Amino acid sequence: MRLSSALRRTAIASLALAAPVGRGFAQGQPAAQPPVFTHADTLRGAITPERAWWDVVFYDLHVRLDPADSTVRGWNGITYRVTGASRAMQIDLQVPLEIDSVVQDGKRLTYRRDGNAFFVKVTGKQAKGSVRMVAVYYHGRPRVAQRPPWDGGLIWARDPDGGTWISTACQGLGASVWWPTKDTQADEPDSQRVALTVPDSLQAVGNGRLRGVTRAAEGWSTWEWFVTSPINNYDVAPYIGRYAQYTDTYDGEGGRLTLDFRPLVQHVEASRRQWDQVEPMLRCFEHWFGPYPWYRDGYRLIEAPHLGMEHQSAVAYGNGYRNGYKGTDLSGTGWGLTFDFIVIHESAHEWWGNSLTTADVADMWVHESFANYSESLFTECQFGTAAGAAYQRGTRKLVKNDKPIVGTYGVNSEGSGDMYYKGGNMLHTMRQVVANDSVWRATLRGLQAEYAHRIVTGRQVQEYMSAHTGVRLGKIFEQYLTTTRIPVFEYRLDGTTLTYRWANVVAGFDMPLRVAVAPDSAVRLTPTERWQSTTLALAAPEYFHVDENYFVETKRVEQAGAAAAGTSR
Ligand SMILES: [Zn+2]
Repeated sequence: MRLSSALRRTAIASLALAAPVGRGFAQGQPAAQPPVFTHADTLRGAITPERAWWDVVFYDLHVRLDPADSTVRGWNGITYRVTGASRAMQIDLQVPLEIDSVVQDGKRLTYRRDGNAFFVKVTGKQAKGSVRMVAVYYHGRPRVAQRPPWDGGLIWARDPDGGTWISTACQGLGASVWWPTKDTQADEPDSQRVALTVPDSLQAVGNGRLRGVTRAAEGWSTWEWFVTSPINNYDVAPYIGRYAQYTDTYDGEGGRLTLDFRPLVQHVEASRRQWDQVEPMLRCFEHWFGPYPWYRDGYRLIEAPHLGMEHQSAVAYGNGYRNGYKGTDLSGTGWGLTFDFIVIHESAHEWWGNSLTTADVADMWVHESFANYSESLFTECQFGTAAGAAYQRGTRKLVKNDKPIVGTYGVNSEGSGDMYYKGGNMLHTMRQVVANDSVWRATLRGLQAEYAHRIVTGRQVQEYMSAHTGVRLGKIFEQYLTTTRIPVFEYRLDGTTLTYRWANVVAGFDMPLRVAVAPDSAVRLTPTERWQSTTLALAAPEYFHVDENYFVETKRVEQAGAAAAGTSR
């Protein structure tokens, strides 16, 4: 999620433009600084040799959260399969948390700390293919999130009556801000237990299903939650407070899905009104993407002390029980106020991000571009194709073109916040290019089926979409994901003769384009970087326009270039 980091940049950019003199203003776009990455970024973002030789099978996380002193204490049993020659084992746990001991086969192991990473010396036999377990005991006062969900850490909040309300947000920063884990998107456990111990006046809600509540020490209870499916570690979240609960079921493509709604006790009425969007959301997304990915673990929507996050099977909600994005319409079209942005966007991540997960955050566009695009598909499901398209086009005004959408691999570095609006508009444009909605839908559903509960690369997604739409989409992806340029359709119209080409594009860019020639008639052109000419069945000059659903710029030129004469003959 963390959408607003992009919005924040929008605000900063607006300020810069308003300033009479400023570096950014005087020079146009400020010169992009080459990113500087640290050793710690590599430890966090790379598949280091100390991560590569073992594959997580199961996390058995037990943690006590103490609101009295903002500390956590517990242990994580990490079950793993040995996939290569063993060496030290990298386990991540962020400063200021401390590991107390690491135990395997009843023996304490030694380790060395390097910032937020621990390198544990395993001494027992690690036969390739064998399944082993190591237990990591830890404690400390974790970093507190200052501005969740846009930064990460523990959230020690208060409910409207001043009661204790605790949660976490850690996408980007990493789950190792509060529990020891292999902190990469590239490796998910097949299942996970999360046993949360909290003061017994509070409830502790987690991901997946509740297995039981047991009395721990005097005054404490342990709530045992279990997720039966692979889960991103940033999706693991506790919600601790005084919650109401009501349930429902949804009969969908995967059978009967349990719906579990958890507003704060103060907000039951508001939630019953607002969260009735869940069922049409599920119906729409199942239509476009295929079955909700977690029938076994259920769907849960739960109020959180921050705006929202796609926590798997326990989606965090903090949008104030009103439509739009904190009550505003990101698209400026009015359509953005017809749905609750957090319910729709974060739930879309159950398909895009949680079920299908990218190995490296540099490819985070796969999560956010499809989630953004899902908002327009939901609008389409509710109000028709034109409404969905208008919403999607409306979000273009938030595109910054500040830097490429694809980030830097291996250093936990996301690309531009344009992964939301520009990425969504790229997908909307591709749908026009494919020009066959049943093929388009089958491709989205196929992606979900092929990569359900799996880790992918951005490249795999691109190749899948080209293969299954039957359209070579590679250059379109390259243009929108790796450059900050928007394609310009340059043309000259002489009577009914159209001369045209693509400008401002990557080499070999050849995206087909639909142009209107009469009120109810359009033709498909195949522009390239070279000028070419064609004769249009143009009813009148004023009817000529480029289909606005393509995210391109259009420029009428007087001089169509010397090459045009050559290609037109
Ligand atoms: Zn998102």
